[in-house]
Amino acid sequence: MPRKKLKDANNVSLNITSQIKDTILTDIEIDPVALQYLPSPSEKIIRLNENPDPIGDNIYSPVAGIVNRHTDRVLLKITDTCSVYCRFCFRKEMVGKGAGILSKKEIDTAFNYIATHTEISEIIFSGGDPLTLSNKRLQNLISRLETIDHLKIIRFHTRVPMVNPNRIDTGFINIINQCSKAFYLVLHVNHEQEINAPISGMLDKLSRTPAVLLSQSVLLKNINDNITALENLFRALINNRVKPYYLHHPDLAPGTGHFRVSIKKGQQLMSVLRERVSGLCLPTYVLDIPGGFGKIPIDARYIESLDNNAYLLKDHKGQRHTYDDTQASDSSE
Ligand code: SF4
Repeated sequence: MPRKKLKDANNVSLNITSQIKDTILTDIEIDPVALQYLPSPSEKIIRLNENPDPIGDNIYSPVAGIVNRHTDRVLLKITDTCSVYCRFCFRKEMVGKGAGILSKKEIDTAFNYIATHTEISEIIFSGGDPLTLSNKRLQNLISRLETIDHLKIIRFHTRVPMVNPNRIDTGFINIINQCSKAFYLVLHVNHEQEINAPISGMLDKLSRTPAVLLSQSVLLKNINDNITALENLFRALINNRVKPYYLHHPDLAPGTGHFRVSIKKGQQLMSVLRERVSGLCLPTYVLDIPGGFGKIPIDARYIESLDNNAYLLKDHKGQRHTYDDTQASDSSE
């Protein structure tokens, strides 16, 4: 009999794993891991600028499951299921609602869309979490994608490895090892506490495959919105051979205002981080423009265009320097 899904009073799914329990180290009222999963009365406060589809997936969805916002890549929301349900999730109105995996017909239509759009070179598996699917199902999906010549890159965005490291089993490692396309794994992790010994062991296994390992984190109030937390997180990632890729400014999902810091604070944190860590250790701080206009970097406060092909550059100490770009070979074009 299927297990009944646990939901809170706001119809948000609840689930945590034994790995997550092991990484909660302090009082759950303040613990940076616990706070990511436990319901809060603040979720009842819905702000005027919040939106059930905060990054505008729906208007760029030509067929079920596909989001085609950019010419060269598509997102495939293969399932609505996750291993854990994050209270700040940007797709909280979609995930864990019981729809499960796309139907065979929907998958056929989605793959046909990719096959007939030769400009698409990358597929991003998202959800929900693609790693909640069985290896057999994943292998089947990947084998079908391998027959599409113009598709070069398979990217998975997943939180599963960080919350259930045992999921990275021999079967999944074999799938990566045998995949003929470039394979990228983007791991969702928000606090150094989440990277304990079992996670390091799992990352060691993954780092021996051809997969490129990247991370994405969300800047979250009272969880990682301070220099120490961010520095420790990004250093732990590069020490485990994972390149910090994105630091997301939280999206305007309903009832998530208590997680949001100001953009100004995020920019200040990035400025200080830039002084303290190498470029390898530094993710790009990004914001998805509400309404589906895509992701932009928002820590680029270091360059300002002046007249006559000149720029004002701000160094990490806040000092300004002019840069003459008139000698560039295309400056008169
Ligand atoms: S794992 Fe990702 S998709 Fe799932 S609830 Fe968390 S943020 Fe949302």
